Amino acid sequence: MRDYYEILEIDRGADAEDIKKAYRHMALKYHPDRNPGDKQAEETFKDAAEAYEVLSNPEKRQIYDQYGHEGLKGTGRFEGFDDIFSSFGDIFEDIFSFGRGSRSRTRAERGADLQYNLEIDFLEAVFGCEKDIEMPRFEECTDCHGLGYETGYEPVVCPMCDGQGRILRSQGFFRVSGTCPKCHGHGRVITHPCKTCKGFGRVEEKRKIKVNIPPGINTGMRLRLKGEGESGIYGGPPGDLYVDVLVSPHEYFEREDDDIICRLTISFPEAALGKEIEVPTLKGFEKISIPKGIQHGETIRLRGKGIARLRGPGRGDQIVVVNIRTPTKLSKKQEELLKELADLEKSDVESKTHFWNTFVKKR
Ligand SMILES: [Zn+2]
Ligand SMILES: [Zn+2]
Repeated sequence: MRDYYEILEIDRGADAEDIKKAYRHMALKYHPDRNPGDKQAEETFKDAAEAYEVLSNPEKRQIYDQYGHEGLKGTGRFEGFDDIFSSFGDIFEDIFSFGRGSRSRTRAERGADLQYNLEIDFLEAVFGCEKDIEMPRFEECTDCHGLGYETGYEPVVCPMCDGQGRILRSQGFFRVSGTCPKCHGHGRVITHPCKTCKGFGRVEEKRKIKVNIPPGINTGMRLRLKGEGESGIYGGPPGDLYVDVLVSPHEYFEREDDDIICRLTISFPEAALGKEIEVPTLKGFEKISIPKGIQHGETIRLRGKGIARLRGPGRGDQIVVVNIRTPTKLSKKQEELLKELADLEKSDVESKTHFWNTFVKKR
């Protein structure tokens, strides 16, 4: 553990105000919302919180000055961000709200999550793709940086509630406390609202957002785009965008999880005699052999010719379902040949009938 003064970049003689300022500076710089996924920043953020926790407390600071880290053994380290935020809430409230000086009830708010239904076609889902979607979204106003007021005209203490955010109203015999209608509970009012956003701090804009569709995605799956929701209010972090995917059907292929299903219709003689045949796959035509005597509804599996697995390595299979077509319009010649065939098969049927009559019917 580094020296607490070093962490906050202050000298040993720093006063309470200096310590607070230094911590605010560090907390802002290494704030997890500004450094998503950065482990180093996370550690520095926690170190700074620990240093501030000790140095802002005169008793702990004295022990630390005298005995160093040894003296404070047993004092806990912050486990997570929630701990830090609940311990030093007002510091963050200060940073992310109007409140300067007197405490204000305004809190930075996270932006709302957004949802978008995205329809893509079958092959786009199979191979993955990049899609531009356009949607209206509340963005931080660039003119006032989301603060809602013109530069140089900071919000003033609300004259109606005296900065309390709540007022007492008479209702018949009762006096009830309610949210101040002038400042809506914020305790401060904007005197010079930003002209661009009219004081809301955000403006609605049509935004183009790039969505990366990973190969193998399917209907009903949901993509989460972190930070692509609406921008936060008064400095809060943005919400997320959820994209719900709907895959439109393909004229030839169907899908079952990672397997591709296609139906192949062959003639009755082809089924009986067997045949080499070309079928479409996701990567062009492929020759398969239909075995002699295949039955209607039987399948042929092409290993590894299916869809890339979204989770884990490898691909699914392509399954060819064989349908046998019964001829409907027969030429004279065809009819003759089929009759001849039927006659040849008759003896087989007769022997089965014989079996039925002798062994089964008697019981
Ligand atoms: Zn008020
Ligand atoms: Zn503005």
